Amino acid sequence: MKRTQETLVVRSGLNVDQQHGSVVPPIYLSTTYNFLDFNQPRKHDYGRRSNPGRDEVQQVLAALEAGHAAVLTGSGMAAIHLICTVLLTPDDLLVAPKDCYGGSYRLFDSQQKRGAYKVLFIDQHDPQQLSTALALKPKVILIESPSNPLLRIVDIVSIAQQAHNVGTIVIADNTFLSPYVQQPLLLGADVVVHSCTKYLNGHSDVIAGVVITKHADLADEFAWWANNIGVTAAPFDSYLLLRGLRTLPLRMVQAQQNALDIVNFLKQQPKIKKLYHPSLPEHPGHEIAKKQQRGFGAMISFELGGGETEIRQFISALSLFTLAESLGGVESLISHTATMTHAAMSKEARHAAGISDSLLRISVGIEDSKDLIADLAHALQLIA
Ligand code: PLP
Repeated sequence: MKRTQETLVVRSGLNVDQQHGSVVPPIYLSTTYNFLDFNQPRKHDYGRRSNPGRDEVQQVLAALEAGHAAVLTGSGMAAIHLICTVLLTPDDLLVAPKDCYGGSYRLFDSQQKRGAYKVLFIDQHDPQQLSTALALKPKVILIESPSNPLLRIVDIVSIAQQAHNVGTIVIADNTFLSPYVQQPLLLGADVVVHSCTKYLNGHSDVIAGVVITKHADLADEFAWWANNIGVTAAPFDSYLLLRGLRTLPLRMVQAQQNALDIVNFLKQQPKIKKLYHPSLPEHPGHEIAKKQQRGFGAMISFELGGGETEIRQFISALSLFTLAESLGGVESLISHTATMTHAAMSKEARHAAGISDSLLRISVGIEDSKDLIADLAHALQLIA
């Protein structure tokens, strides 16, 4: 019977323990499993290749993204690197958004410099740049929608169609929304990647990543290579991730509603010079977001008037937004893009991607939005 995401995440892995009947699945920390005889391994033989808890999370994540199978990795970057290792050889071209996550940008750039593959960073919103890039018949195109940190939206259906016309494999980084809000495989992508560190786990206590595909042959290759290069996730992290996933739908509903309340407040504040959130009708991706997402996400970026002094004053006056990188946890965070998440990019590359030095990004948590707004209002009052 087909279950909704809400039911799936709560029920997965329950009552699997035959020995004691524990309702919640046990954690198998053992790295190795005994053989029944020569050439007769059980389902699991060695922990790098498979683990009962990790398998369970992989199944849930594949189902949430409407994929065939998933591979859980030790971080989101390990997941992205795994995809590139499997799909790209030195003559192959990867097309990536020029405003992609700074860590992805650094990985692609450094891998290109050592000759692992070629990379072209483009503005995927510009139809001319997109068609020029696709005319080169790239092996892979990476989509990030919404992008980090400017929350720009691209039409996944349209890019996937254009890419498939020239035989290009479409990867979507769905970290910013989670499968509760957007399911790129159903929109035409071939592979979805997540930093599970964010919304999927949701409690800022696990670093993990996942690669999910709808193609059986690719799924086998990802699993084989994950074991080969040893990037699979640890049992305890898998356990925490499954636990975090159980509240994903509830957390996404609350965080997205809080974000709408905060946007509504911020858009009336004269000290906010620019506000980025796909819920705003003037946001260039508003209509596409409405079409391909279930909600507008819980990340908000804005530029504060004034210089470094005002930005510092504002941040230190906040008590409910912790100055920290990352996103997608139950707690609200604020980050200064230029010196934190995107510090690995050169100033020129940042400015070319539209990231100013006064850009702040908030990851809205699931606290009461009235308290969050009062905190922001108080901090805004204090700056000149
Ligand atoms: N993709 C996106 C969009 C991210 O924001 C991040 C991390 O912030 C990553 C990938 C990398 O994930 P991890 O930090 O789990 O390696």
